[in-house]
Amino acid sequence: MSALDTLHIDGIWRAAASGATREVLDPADATVLALVAEGDAGDTDAAVAAARRAFDSGPWPRTPVAERAELLRRVAALLQRDREEIALTESRDTGKTLEEGRVDVDDVTAAFRYFAGLVEHESGGRVVDAGDPRVHSVVVHEPVGVCALITPWNYPLLQASWKVAPALAAGNTFVLKPSEITPLSTVHLIRLLAEAGLPDGVANLVTGAGDPVGARLSEHPGVDLVSFTGGLASGTKVARAAATTVKKVALELGGKNPNVVFADACATDEGFDTAVDQALNAAFFHSGQVCSAGARLIVEESVRERFVTELARRAAAIKLGRGTEDGVECGPLVSAQQLAKTEMYVASAREEGAVVRAGGSRPEPSAVRPATGWFYSPTVLDACHREMRVVREETFGPLLTVETFRDEDEDEAVALANDTEYGLAGAVWTSDAGRARRVAGRLRHGTVWINDYHPYLPQAEWGGFGRSGTGRELGPAGLAEYREAKHIYQNLDPRPQRWFAG
Ligand code: NAD
Repeated sequence: MSALDTLHIDGIWRAAASGATREVLDPADATVLALVAEGDAGDTDAAVAAARRAFDSGPWPRTPVAERAELLRRVAALLQRDREEIALTESRDTGKTLEEGRVDVDDVTAAFRYFAGLVEHESGGRVVDAGDPRVHSVVVHEPVGVCALITPWNYPLLQASWKVAPALAAGNTFVLKPSEITPLSTVHLIRLLAEAGLPDGVANLVTGAGDPVGARLSEHPGVDLVSFTGGLASGTKVARAAATTVKKVALELGGKNPNVVFADACATDEGFDTAVDQALNAAFFHSGQVCSAGARLIVEESVRERFVTELARRAAAIKLGRGTEDGVECGPLVSAQQLAKTEMYVASAREEGAVVRAGGSRPEPSAVRPATGWFYSPTVLDACHREMRVVREETFGPLLTVETFRDEDEDEAVALANDTEYGLAGAVWTSDAGRARRVAGRLRHGTVWINDYHPYLPQAEWGGFGRSGTGRELGPAGLAEYREAKHIYQNLDPRPQRWFAG
C-alpha cells in the first residue's frame, strides 16, 4: 500500500480515481506532514456501492452479536497495541499534546469495549403483550443499513470511533469521511478494523473535502443514515441534503458553553484554586478547540476580580509549543484559518469593549514554537456581555470571555448560562449541594458538570440541546441511533375477519 492509497473501498486500499492528492500540514510549522488521496463524488459513489453490497448480501448484518462484540474487543486490543504510534500521529496532525493523544486512544479503546458489552446485553427482542393469547408480538432491533459517518478535525480518532463502534456493533456497514485537515489517525483505525477481521466492504473510507465527498454522502440515495459531527453551518447543509432522501440524521454540532462560578465555591483557598484551575482546563484544553469548551466564564460579582486576576496570571503562564515536545502544555491551532478566525474574534471583542486581561496576540516564536506555526496565546477577555459577537458565537479557539452576575442571584446566573442558541455542555461551581442541583436542573444543555469540567463516560449519552444538534452519541441512545425497531406480530390462529361480507 502506498502512503497515498488512503481510500478504502471494498477491502482495497487505493488512490483517488482522478489521481488527485492533498497535503496534510503540520500545524506547529506549516510543513507537509503527509500526502493523502483526494476523493471526489465518483469515489464516494464507489464506496457507497461497496457498503450497499456488503450490507444487502454480506455476512456482517447476520453475524451473531457475540462475534460482532468479539471483533470490537479485538479492535480495542489493537488500539492499545498501537497506542504510542496513534497518539503521535494524532498529536502531529491536530497539534494537540502527545499526552492528550494518548488519552484519546484510551478513551476510544473504552468506547469499543463499552459498545461490545452493550450490544451483547441489549440484543434480545422485547415481547409485547398483545392482549390476545393467539398472538405473539415482539419488537426486535435491526441495523439501519449503510451509514455515512462524517467527522471533524479536533478529535479525529475519537469522533470517528464514537460512530464506528456502535455502527458496527449494531451490524451496519459504513462509509467514513474524516476531516480533510486531519485524516491520518482515521486511516490507521480503518487498517485496524481490517486486521481485526472485519469482512471486506463493511468499513469504507473516503478521504477528501466536505464538498464534494460529505455533500455526496448526505444526499446519496444509497445511504440510509448520516451521522455528522462538525460545525453548525455544515450540519445545516447535511440536514438539508439528507432530507431529499429522508435519511435518518444525527447531528453533533458546536457549543458556546457556560462555566458558572458561585462565590461559595471559592470560600476556601483549596476551592478557589480548584475552580480557577478547572476554568483554565475548561477554556484552554486543546487550545479551546473542543466542542464542549467552557468558553464563557459566568462568575459571581463578589469573587470576580480575584478570580479573573488569578485566571489571567495562570493563562499567561501556559506553555505553548509543538505538541510532541516535553513540557509543552498546549499546542498550536489546527490551521491558518483557525488562527485568522481567532484574531478576527479578538479584534471584534476589543471593538465591542472587552478588556484583554491575558493573551490577545500571537506568542513570540521560540525553540519549541516555530514562527511558521499557528500559535495563539490563551486569551482572557474581561467585561464581556451577551450582545458581543465573541460571547454569542462559537470561536473554537483559546478565548475565554468573562461575564458577571449579581451576588446570590441564581436566576441571573441561569438566564445568562442558557442565553445561547447552542446547548451542548455547561458547568456549575458551588459548595451548596441544593444550589448545585437546582442550577443543574435548570441548565438547558446536554451535559452538565457540577464542580468539574470536561469528563464524559462512554456509558452516558453525549449530545446537545438547541442548535448543538439532534440525536445522541455514547450510552444506550448512541447504539439506538444505528438501529431500526421492527415490530413482528404473529397471529398463531388466523381466521377471517369478515369486515367485508364478500
Ligand atoms: P466542519 O463543519 O467544517 O467540518 C466537519 C466535517 O464536515 C468535515 O469532515 C468536513 O469536510 C465536512 N463537511 C464540510 N462541509 C460539508 C458539507 N457541505 N456536507 C457534508 N460534509 C461537509 O467542522 P470542523 O471545523 O471540522 O469541526 C469543528 C466543529 O465541530 C465545531 O463547531 C465543533 O463544535 C464541532 N464538534 C462538535 C462535537 C460534538 O460532539 N457536538 C465534537 C467535535 C466537534
